[in-house]
Amino acid sequence: MTKTHNIAILGAGESGVGAALLAKKQGFEVFVSDFGEIKEKYKEVLNKENIEWEEGKHNSDKILEATEIIKSPGIPEKVQIVQKALEKGIQVISEIEFAGRYTQAKLIGITGSNGKTTTTMLTYHVLKKAGLNVGIAGNVGSSFAKQVASENYDYYVLELSSFQLDGLVDFKVDVSVLLNITPDHLDRYEYKFGNYVNSKFRITNNQTNQDYFIYCKDDEAIAKALESKSIKAKQLPFSIKEEVEEGAFYNKNEEIVFNLINQEPQTMSIHDLALNGKHNIYNSMAAGIASKVLDLRKEIVRESLSDFQNVEHRLEHICYVNGIEFINDSKATNVNAVWYALESINKPIVWIAGGVDKGNDYEELIPLVKSKVKALVCLGVDNSRLVEAFKDVIDVYETSSAKDAVKLSYKLGAKGDLVLLSPACASFDLFDNYEERGLEFRKAVREL
Ligand code: ADP
Repeated sequence: MTKTHNIAILGAGESGVGAALLAKKQGFEVFVSDFGEIKEKYKEVLNKENIEWEEGKHNSDKILEATEIIKSPGIPEKVQIVQKALEKGIQVISEIEFAGRYTQAKLIGITGSNGKTTTTMLTYHVLKKAGLNVGIAGNVGSSFAKQVASENYDYYVLELSSFQLDGLVDFKVDVSVLLNITPDHLDRYEYKFGNYVNSKFRITNNQTNQDYFIYCKDDEAIAKALESKSIKAKQLPFSIKEEVEEGAFYNKNEEIVFNLINQEPQTMSIHDLALNGKHNIYNSMAAGIASKVLDLRKEIVRESLSDFQNVEHRLEHICYVNGIEFINDSKATNVNAVWYALESINKPIVWIAGGVDKGNDYEELIPLVKSKVKALVCLGVDNSRLVEAFKDVIDVYETSSAKDAVKLSYKLGAKGDLVLLSPACASFDLFDNYEERGLEFRKAVREL
């Protein structure tokens, strides 16, 4: 193999190992490097495939021999090895860009600050139910590259985070979905919201007038950005606030109206949707339009949007204990997601929040908290920012374990109330990740 066929992969997680498998299959010389420790299961895969790897360091001589580098989305561009590669003129791409080169499948890409996983799984559910040969990838399940290497799908529904979008060059989706843009991850975008907005809009990169761009018309950041962007794809907006000519909207009969040229309009009552809450009307509209763009039958779209099983840790109903309902929304790691959680609930709420604060601005939650929340139970190592924001609004308590937070919330609640874990923060202070936080919450509830 000549040097022109060397690929170095930075980060040996799901996407890196998937990329390694695909690169090997395509005949490249592959080297995988992870600055941290590689999980045992991934080492096994690499060894089995005779792929060279290292951990705990980056051997820059070897990495910089590569003609192309595939970088895990978790690694910021500013790290030294990436900077060195860029200085040397080596192209640094993402696993999604790489995998996109080796599939002819039709691609539906979904992004947004919140709702990506839900909408991706919902869209996948509709396509699967329609009998299409479809895979799901991106941030969910097995990596896109691994599936491209081993499966033969005709369609993929891809959940794409802004970090993944940043590593794209020629990659293009046939149908792009942009759900919303609210501040998140600003530490990776020089604390400039505009940079983050541009990153999200990369989902429309390389699209032509044969492709589709589905977006939320009610989202201020999207609307503003659209004034100055030229999008080549056919635009299909969705809105709860106003009627749209083509796309989807909400009418006064509490129905979603799907309206696509060359198709009969389809209406669906929001009471028939599997997912509750205003945010999920948006998510259902987005998934519905994407399905209708693919010409799926009305009945399939209706049925699938109404029998979808919600994803764990997203407004997940756990159970009732003496008339108090418990809801796990551990995945709500930013303020906007909490806003939608509080907005969707019509019972007095004992709200559990906290963790690693990402520079949150809690101001926009205050009206909802005043009208709906009985008490705030903080669950984190350092709760000072939450305490500061809400101490003059409601009663605030501090705890530092899921068990204590649940016990205290139960005590503070009364029959007919609802205890909501919707943290607005990352989980790394007390838990490995948001899943572990949700599972501990669920366990503590079951032990009451
Ligand atoms: P993501 O993959 O973008 O993080 P998820 O579907 O995992 O999104 O949901 C994350 C959190 O955001 C959950 O708390 C969920 O209830 C909330 N959420 C889901 N859809 C939306 C939306 N369209 N707008 C705002 N919040 C949402």
